[in-house]
Amino acid sequence: MIERRPVPNRFRRFHLPILLMLVPMITLFGGVWISMHHYGWSWITILLVALCMVMGVLGLRFQNRLATHLKCPQCLRLLVHPGWDGLPEGTPIDFVCPDCGIEWITGISVPSSPS
Ligand SMILES: [Zn+2]
Repeated sequence: MIERRPVPNRFRRFHLPILLMLVPMITLFGGVWISMHHYGWSWITILLVALCMVMGVLGLRFQNRLATHLKCPQCLRLLVHPGWDGLPEGTPIDFVCPDCGIEWITGISVPSSPS
């Protein structure tokens, strides 16, 4: 019998890193806006736009990793979700630790357009 438990500190674990990642993104967007305003399409603007794209790709990969990997809060075993390709939108993304016999409820679910 598998016990179901909510993951402790869900906000810190899943949402805070995404929010913190927005800080450099917003800063970069601000940089692009200021650079466009002052210099137009100069090399600095193009560089900042390129940095935005790199940050966006890294952000998506980071978000994907957050949603598919979890350290078991009890035994610290790394649990890897098989991935949510093909799962319907809104399916809960939960992790089962075979050592502890616990299904960890993350409270996150498959987004509308998986990346
Ligand atoms: Zn465990």
